[in-house]
Amino acid sequence: MTNADMPVDSECPTSTPPISATPVNPAAVDIDENEPREECGVFGVWAPSEDVAKLTYYGLYALQHRGQEAAGIAVSDGSQILVFKDLGLVSQVFDEQTLAAMPGHIAVGHCRYSTTGGVTWENAQPIFRTTAVGSGLALGHNGNLVNTAELAGRARELGLGQAVKGGRAQPAAATSDSDVVTALLAHAAADSSIEQAAMELLPTLKGAFCLTFMDEHTLYAARDPHGVRPLCLGRLDRGWVVASETAALDIVGAAFVREIEPGELLAIDAEGVRSMRFANPEPKGCVFEYVYLARPDTTIAGRSVHSTRVEIGRRLAKEHPVEADLVIPVPESGTPAAVGYAQGSGVPYGQGLMKNAYVGRTFIQPSQTIRQLGIRLKLNPLREVIRGKRLIVVDDSIVRGNTQRALIRMLRESGALEIHVRIASPPVKWPCFYGIDFASRAELIANGAGTHDSYDDMIEGVRRSIGADTLGYISTEGMIAATEQPRSRLCCACFDGDYPIALPAEAAIGKNVLEGVLTGQSEAMLLSENANASALSRP
Ligand code: SF4
Repeated sequence: MTNADMPVDSECPTSTPPISATPVNPAAVDIDENEPREECGVFGVWAPSEDVAKLTYYGLYALQHRGQEAAGIAVSDGSQILVFKDLGLVSQVFDEQTLAAMPGHIAVGHCRYSTTGGVTWENAQPIFRTTAVGSGLALGHNGNLVNTAELAGRARELGLGQAVKGGRAQPAAATSDSDVVTALLAHAAADSSIEQAAMELLPTLKGAFCLTFMDEHTLYAARDPHGVRPLCLGRLDRGWVVASETAALDIVGAAFVREIEPGELLAIDAEGVRSMRFANPEPKGCVFEYVYLARPDTTIAGRSVHSTRVEIGRRLAKEHPVEADLVIPVPESGTPAAVGYAQGSGVPYGQGLMKNAYVGRTFIQPSQTIRQLGIRLKLNPLREVIRGKRLIVVDDSIVRGNTQRALIRMLRESGALEIHVRIASPPVKWPCFYGIDFASRAELIANGAGTHDSYDDMIEGVRRSIGADTLGYISTEGMIAATEQPRSRLCCACFDGDYPIALPAEAAIGKNVLEGVLTGQSEAMLLSENANASALSRP
């Protein structure tokens, strides 16, 4: 399905339903399937006299790394909301013609990787709902709620449809936590303003959420009380921008104003910016944003992501020194830490692997010949650099270990004498319930390798499994110190299993929880089918 197949409805009445495209569900092929999958990116703009659809397009373009399955933009011209969304990259979903047909002065945008709900057109965002009083509501969500089942139950009691009939989800139903939140918010806004409804609903959401939402007149932005995911406010000459990352502000020419506080709701309209507090802040920022998720040119809590990664590399060199000829990164996310490692160790830095910058998610199924190329689709070795060298290879993390195993084999075939792997995060041992899709516990190599008699034994098991000569991970303390944030203000749960936001019963968490709730699956069935549920069975 291309944009050309999706006519823009120019006759939308006030608060029209979203512009609809025939749902398509191509089997997306993820070339990075062994890496942690990022959550989503959100963007919002209030700017009369600006082309807000295009600003949002470029904002999402800057946030593309946070979600590559679907993209969407909602705009309001003060009397109606138009939504355009589809599966695919931002540049695949939108073209000049589509954006030109979306006039307005308020917009919210979203790029999605699914953390709750499957990869379907219905789950693409912004989600649109009409309130009982006839105004529109468009919402984008970054993060993942942990009380989705409870919220869905509440929505069902209120008779709020997710195309549920007889307790069963209909094929076209959205199955995301974000859709449930939108339904509850639209329902509550029947008796009060969206602002008041949000102030009542937001304290009942548990988990990680950065929301950008809008009606015809006002842009809203809210961040959960733990501030797990980043969200910031920027200023245009004649307007305001909210975005997941400061890099997106830079790219649309907005000046950074401040981060949206944990537990804060902002409302932005012709009266300016109003700040409301819906919960007391208990900051627990995701440390993995610093390690891998955020762009290096983003700043979180006053700390540059790039500087953090370089500092992790310096500390890694002190914690795990080794004699070698060359430090090479696994591009791109391993690059700053490799630079730091070279600085900290005095071993020269060089590029030994070239990354195809445009590889990521593709909707073209690879042929068997291409599939066998595996990692070469993404990384190609520079043989003349590698041949005859003792290499230190720096990567951001190891999840399943498949990528590193293939990479090491490829480097040896290219003539490397020794391969010493250094990892810029501690071993990932626990799943994330706050918006990052790792693997299930059983799939995480740090849980499967070695006999677990000791930490060293586990490391040795991973080393043998991936085929490295030596292996060293940064310590949790070293990683935290590099962020320059107090430990008490960070979530490190995927490394230490200490989840800062209480998790509900095992059956009610996981990516496909809502499909289960909607189809009336029993808890036992959910538990058996939900690989993430094993996270709570600590070793
Ligand atoms: S569990 Fe890991 S990835 Fe998830 S929010 Fe915490 S630190 Fe981030």
